[in-house]
Amino acid sequence: MLCDDCKKKPASISFKEVLPDETIELNLCDECAAKRGLLSPKKLSPLETLQKVLRQRTAQDERVICPRCCMSLAEFKRVGRFGCSDCPATFADHIQYLIKQIHHSDRHIGRRTAPGTKRGLEIYRLREELKNALEKELYEDAARIRDKLRDYGIKDV
Ligand SMILES: [Zn+2]
Ligand SMILES: [Zn+2]
Repeated sequence: MLCDDCKKKPASISFKEVLPDETIELNLCDECAAKRGLLSPKKLSPLETLQKVLRQRTAQDERVICPRCCMSLAEFKRVGRFGCSDCPATFADHIQYLIKQIHHSDRHIGRRTAPGTKRGLEIYRLREELKNALEKELYEDAARIRDKLRDYGIKDV
């Protein structure tokens, strides 16, 4: 079965919503489901984000070395903790960069998880209604549906 949206990729997920007057069934590929806001990207916890960032190695990691305990930045990334109390100062610049990445990814993910399944299906339903209204040239109905879609933050209608 092909994805209802792009009609190119195989559908990997099917959504079913039973509404009072109809049942909506949607078969979508991952990409299109995400576009509709039906798929929330998996949110990484701060710890998982940290681990992910720590896995990113750079060439200079081996060269940044704590003068006191001789721990390298590469080793710090490997074990995930400091070797001595001088390490934080030694790695400060690099750690700040890591922390920024973590904050950035948190914000980024936070925005993307906002739309829920229910909202996505409601938008889908309104879009279908709008299409029908336009086909039947019911412009007053269409305007009313557009207003509802705008309430959902959909502007390209
Ligand atoms: Zn698709
Ligand atoms: Zn140290």
